[in-house]
Amino acid sequence: MADAMTPATRRAARFRGDAVIDFTDDDLPEVAAAEVRLRVDVCALCGSDKRLLASGSAVVPGHEIAGTVVAAGRGTTLPTGTRCIVYIPVFCGECDQCLRGQTNRCLHLRELIGWQRDGGFADFVDVPQRCALPVPDDVPQDVAVLGLDTVGTAAHGLRLALRTQDELPRRLLVVGCGPLGLGVVAVARALGVASVDAHDPHPGRLALAARLGAGTQVDLQAENRYDVTVEVSGSAPGRDAAQRVVVPGGTVLVLGESNDPYVMAATPRWRRTDCFTVRSFYFPLTEVDGNWDLLRRCGPALRDVLAHPLTLPELARAFDKFVAGDLLKPYIVSGAPA
Ligand SMILES: [Zn+2]
Ligand SMILES: [Zn+2]
Repeated sequence: MADAMTPATRRAARFRGDAVIDFTDDDLPEVAAAEVRLRVDVCALCGSDKRLLASGSAVVPGHEIAGTVVAAGRGTTLPTGTRCIVYIPVFCGECDQCLRGQTNRCLHLRELIGWQRDGGFADFVDVPQRCALPVPDDVPQDVAVLGLDTVGTAAHGLRLALRTQDELPRRLLVVGCGPLGLGVVAVARALGVASVDAHDPHPGRLALAARLGAGTQVDLQAENRYDVTVEVSGSAPGRDAAQRVVVPGGTVLVLGESNDPYVMAATPRWRRTDCFTVRSFYFPLTEVDGNWDLLRRCGPALRDVLAHPLTLPELARAFDKFVAGDLLKPYIVSGAPA
């Protein structure tokens, strides 16, 4: 497949550990069978990348990728020029879960793109064609990329949580207003939840939640306030608060991540309360079409609140500002129009 369009080399970021980032120029082999090569248009930084920044990574990190097909291996059908977002679980396609379309639950999940195989902090990345999801013509790449960890993850968690409830929640609380928490605010509003409140100790983040339509006057000590609470902070106080303010029969949706144990304190109230606890991971391919509709409604506003474009050579600076909390979602963008 070595035609004139195919680049011969690529530049890729390497995480060496202890926050050291450098770059390598690698020869690009022929694209493998059943894979496509993407020019990376946008690769967004994710909070979880901070772990790789500290520990170092054997592969090129970066897992929130929107790109354009520039070459394709044997047995593929996506034409050159197709804009895609990258679905990071490399699912088997054959297990019970995959056959039902529940690809995020694959029983033989081999690897995640950007974690166990090369990701998007590079100018080109190869991915299995089944992980390259074509983007509708009316959705720009800087909105499409939010269909992954921000809107895709938020929407899937909310859909699972809503399945536990007989009606649309009247009051929903989001605890933690990082990019995913803000995504939950935007998606809950787009799904028609009338009253969405948000809490975050950082006043700037809370102001962004307000811009997306959330109420911000929240009493985390009052019990029985919300039909659904969404815990996105990953902190012990956030988890306690989400449990305290949920109504009997309500649902705590747990999206936040932390290395600390998730403790459910068996208080008298907890023992004597009906309550669902829901945990979700990413999203299945069956939800992608619905997510494009959500993105059309709430994606541009989310992008305007979250995104800060920078280029690949600025990656270390992007992480400095990201870790300091100055930027919510740096986007590494290519020079090419997105
Ligand atoms: Zn992520
Ligand atoms: Zn599978």
